[in-house]
Amino acid sequence: MIKFEELGLSTPVMSAISEMGYVEPSPVQEKAIPFLMAEDRDFVALAQTGTGKTAAFGLPAIEKTDVKNRKAQTLILSPTRELCLQIVVELNKFCKNIPGIKVVAVYGGAPIYDQIRKLNDGAHFIVATPGRMVDLIERKKVDLSHIKRVVLDEADEMLNMGFRDDLDSILKDTPETKNTWLFSATMPREAENIANRYMNDPHTITMGKKNAGTDNVNHLYYRVQARDRYLALKRVMDINPDIYGIIFCRTRQETKDVAEKLIKDGYNADALHGDLSQAQRDLVMRRFRLKTLQMLVATDVAARGIDVNDLTHVINYNLPDDVENYTHRSGRTGRAGKKGVSISIIHSRETSKIRQIEHIIKQKFDNAKVPNGEEVCEAQLFSLINKVNKAEVQEEKIAPYMEKVMETIGELPKEDLVKRFVAAEFNRFLEYYKDAPDLNIPDKREYDRDGGRRGRDGDRRDRDRGRGRSRSNDSNYTRFFINQGVKDGMTKRDLMGMINRVTRRRDITLGRIDVMKNFSFFEADKGMESDILKSFKNAVNENERPVVVEVAGDRKDDKRKGNNDSRRKGPFTGGRSGERKDYKDRRSGNSGGRREFRRKY
Ligand code: ADP
Ligand code: MG
Repeated sequence: MIKFEELGLSTPVMSAISEMGYVEPSPVQEKAIPFLMAEDRDFVALAQTGTGKTAAFGLPAIEKTDVKNRKAQTLILSPTRELCLQIVVELNKFCKNIPGIKVVAVYGGAPIYDQIRKLNDGAHFIVATPGRMVDLIERKKVDLSHIKRVVLDEADEMLNMGFRDDLDSILKDTPETKNTWLFSATMPREAENIANRYMNDPHTITMGKKNAGTDNVNHLYYRVQARDRYLALKRVMDINPDIYGIIFCRTRQETKDVAEKLIKDGYNADALHGDLSQAQRDLVMRRFRLKTLQMLVATDVAARGIDVNDLTHVINYNLPDDVENYTHRSGRTGRAGKKGVSISIIHSRETSKIRQIEHIIKQKFDNAKVPNGEEVCEAQLFSLINKVNKAEVQEEKIAPYMEKVMETIGELPKEDLVKRFVAAEFNRFLEYYKDAPDLNIPDKREYDRDGGRRGRDGDRRDRDRGRGRSRSNDSNYTRFFINQGVKDGMTKRDLMGMINRVTRRRDITLGRIDVMKNFSFFEADKGMESDILKSFKNAVNENERPVVVEVAGDRKDDKRKGNNDSRRKGPFTGGRSGERKDYKDRRSGNSGGRREFRRKY
């Protein structure tokens, strides 16, 4: 591995970057820095987010600056105000030991006159958003006659954001003799056009798709019904109590909706989108940086300028329209040697998009299961225990209250006390996740066949599902078990058809339908319970096999026993009786597990 010392940087710069903890140059730095220092040529570097591009252009530009000449020599264009400020901060650190060198940022949304004044005071570096730069040029408030190099940072993003004309006019208004350095994660056609029109035989380097960052990112996806996206998102947050990350949405509206719902549901989240005023954006960003805000909900564009590197998670609430944006998103986690997770919540038909992304990032996704209620409760429990365990007791601060506190709960036996503390914090989750539905799409084939549709009532009920509510508690429905599943070729639509056919009615209100591998569940109007059971008594399926329908319930449910007997006469004998066991184990295993879980503390 090459060291920074070998790149030929000057002593003041070297000592500054060592102080910053830079030891080894990143691949793009290793290639770009010596080249740009030695040559006066146009240059294109394709490298992903988080690969250290700022130093790759910043360090050589600093080394080439004539500090005595107080005219602007380097113009850096960057898509957002936040990115500009981030670059300024980095550059100032790099030139910490070079007296007199000046860096000025100009961007929209802030008073132009202050910026003009700063420019007039002399700046070696101008870091600008394209819009504001054009504004300054038009007002003739900036002298670009000494510009030696223009850096287009995040060129693809500037073009995405519609800055094409601005870039055109800036590149035209800067001296012919300048060099143009283009840095970008991708090279879309528009960037090619810029390169062809304004650059002279640029030296191009392309970094491998993999960088130190993405090696540390674990990519996974959850497949759920499109309408269960939000519920799945909540599970992700609930099972990661210490999550710190960004939830990416596709549109402004979605950003607002998701953030609003999360806030209403008591999560520490807020939105960042284009409708916010600059002051509002600043406030949200400040809170996020300080980690007083745990989750930021943002669009790709709004998230561009986020300079937070130690995210634990990136969540793709929706996959980006432009597959390549995925790399930008996931590049925001797993930095600086830390592990990161990029989670995508997808619906049944988006698997092909995942394959496309895999192709581009050259990494495989894990098809993960949305955590179930017990898993969430367990994670929450241990996070709480951990917190209690690590809590720092400030003896003096709490002393004044201790007497009163001891009076009220001090007499409780230790075990009781522990239980109550846990329960006080924990009941909310237990209650919410009691009977929480499985959000995973059980089997691909089945959904591809019926498009994941449900009865209209099922839809409505699902939307109504909120905290503390669950389908089995809904008194208007009875949940039935039926011994037909995907294995028997059953789909939701088939099942609805069968119910209509067997009961000879089309007016039964159906609730949620879950078609599993070997059997299914469906909810139906409670008032129809006995009619349904009666109709199915001697029913057979297309293969003349007996169909068994019974009320799904607890083990202690008496009906279950009776039906067990009748089943023995049916197809559930010999090898196939295992399926019944499977079903019973699942049910009893779940509730038994929960009981045991409660007993633990
Ligand atoms: P990019 O512009 O490619 O997205 P940045 O230039 O913003 O990446 O760098 C990402 C982070 O990595 C920054 O916090 C930066 O300080 C840090 N960094 C860059 N190069 C190095 C290096 N060689 N060693 C250690 N940290 C680095
Ligand atoms: Mg950058």
